[in-house]
Amino acid sequence: MSPSALADLHHDKAAVEPHSNGLRLSNGHTSVVASKQTEYLLDRNLHKSFPVVTGGSGNYLYLLDGRTVFDATGGAAVSCIGHGNKRVIKAVSTVMNTGISYLASTFWACEVVEELCKNLIHGTDGKMARIYLTGSGSEAMEAAIKLARQVFYECNPSTPRINFIAREGSYHGNTIGALGMSGFPLRRAPYEPFLMNNVHHVSSCNPYRQRADGESDSSFVARKAAELEAKFQELGPETVIAFVAEPVVGAALGCVPAVPGYLKAMKDVCHKHGALFILDEVMSGMGRCGTLHAWQHEDVAPDLQTVGKGLGGGYQPVAAVLISSRVVNTLLNGSGQFVHGQTYQGMPVQAAAALEVQRIVQEEDLVDNVKRQGLYLEQCLRARLADHPNVGDIRGRGLFWGLEFVKDKTTKEPFDPKLAVAQRVYNTSVSTPFNMTMYPGTGSADGLKGDHVILAPAYNVTKEDIEYIAQVASDVVHQVFRKLG
Ligand code: PLP
Repeated sequence: MSPSALADLHHDKAAVEPHSNGLRLSNGHTSVVASKQTEYLLDRNLHKSFPVVTGGSGNYLYLLDGRTVFDATGGAAVSCIGHGNKRVIKAVSTVMNTGISYLASTFWACEVVEELCKNLIHGTDGKMARIYLTGSGSEAMEAAIKLARQVFYECNPSTPRINFIAREGSYHGNTIGALGMSGFPLRRAPYEPFLMNNVHHVSSCNPYRQRADGESDSSFVARKAAELEAKFQELGPETVIAFVAEPVVGAALGCVPAVPGYLKAMKDVCHKHGALFILDEVMSGMGRCGTLHAWQHEDVAPDLQTVGKGLGGGYQPVAAVLISSRVVNTLLNGSGQFVHGQTYQGMPVQAAAALEVQRIVQEEDLVDNVKRQGLYLEQCLRARLADHPNVGDIRGRGLFWGLEFVKDKTTKEPFDPKLAVAQRVYNTSVSTPFNMTMYPGTGSADGLKGDHVILAPAYNVTKEDIEYIAQVASDVVHQVFRKLG
């Protein structure tokens, strides 16, 4: 049975008619507005109407206008086990039914929180020693930034190291510290200059746009390592706290994996100068790229690592910093504390959701499925879109794939941002007859120009789902560019 036929089983179709405030649904005896302008909620899109979602199950979202949408992105690569999972709902309810509404994690221990941390440490092949739980990826990055600073303060309080090196074409979150770290001009522009003026950027690792003709992986990597080394020298190697990178770049570039050997080369430069190597796996981690942690692909463990989206799969707001013994021991041998903490962190209900999601991923061997279906997704996307004149690059790993669109495939010239190409692809994709999500992004060419979309379905997709996703993606792309001319 095709995914759309399966979806129809879950949801009765209803007639719709246009309405000034969206679509009016005639659903038996009732009529309701199905697309809503957000009148009270301050969203990034201040004057926009959104389709109203009324339910979800597995890969599907059910809308008030009667449509069923195939969720091929799980938001921004969040829903790793799909929607409406009964086991997770039960685990969350069980915690709520204990009567514990809230526990300040700075004062109380709780079994489910302890179990989650144990489970997470177990997944790191002994490379990480402690877990710091937060409520979002941005908060995890803030905590990692402070932890890294504190490491060098503990060692030398009078002249601690002060500089961070991050990368262009990166996104680490929207809070001021995390955004200050990000090399994402479009998201940074309204908030310049940043409060943190100790973040410096080197180039991303983006072979599609940076690799010279015929350049091998090893010489490309050597070039990147030399650039990082030069930045250390420019700042003074003894002033650099850490280098921060996403092993597979998500929102900023659209699923760009590090070239083989890159992570090791960058880590070596950091360690040569006594600096920390930090990986942001908020989007690419927790199984998304076909290994539990993206760094396990080449076994290059960081000193600090953040995880988020796939940790709780969207069932609760939960993220974490994974901390190596190098960092933990420095703190233990110093002040013995991390002066940080937020009200909503390490809550039993967050931990219960994350723990159950992780147990499902482990029991159902879903990371292995990600690897297998990911290879198939690559094959299906290449078969349908590699020759398309406006698809410049198809790249990714696991179930994390990006399509970059270009005006000219030979020169790789991006489209005029005014054309909002990625948004057009998204709009077409979520509309009838396609009814499938894609995650749009801009800035993949030079920080201000460039369009891409991300596909990041749930880890338990089938071969049939993959064929469906690739076919719809292809049909959408063909339609959008046919219309653009
Ligand atoms: N880091 C990366 C790599 C991300 O992709 C994101 C979010 O997209 C964040 C950090 C911030 O996470 P959050 O939106 O949960 O604050």
